[in-house]
Amino acid sequence: MSKHHAGGRASSAMTALVLDTYGLTCHLCQRPGATTRDHLVPLARGGLDILDNCRPAHHRCNSRRQDRPLTPALLAEFRARVEAISVDPAAFFEDHDRQEAPRPPSIFSRNVSKKTLPTQESREGEA
Ligand SMILES: [Zn+2]
Repeated sequence: MSKHHAGGRASSAMTALVLDTYGLTCHLCQRPGATTRDHLVPLARGGLDILDNCRPAHHRCNSRRQDRPLTPALLAEFRARVEAISVDPAAFFEDHDRQEAPRPPSIFSRNVSKKTLPTQESREGEA
């Protein structure tokens, strides 16, 4: 049996190092909230799991990219996506996988409660 077990603690330590070194801005969509490391040159394409080849990315962006080569077209795709969303991208990418831009929370849905209008007291005879 192979005792060689990659990943796990070493992997998360590497991610922590990447986030610590490069910050929390996702290198794909360029928004904050990155929680994973993405490889500039994917491992599947011969890239190494070293700091120099890693950049912070959202989990969602990371998995969306898969092993595609990092081209200007790919980056434009990610950034255009985020531009269209215009909500907190971290929340969007981490919590949802919606295809359409969600509506902003309605600030207009306040309860238009029936305000108790001041009763028109008919004042009579002030004479
Ligand atoms: Zn991202």
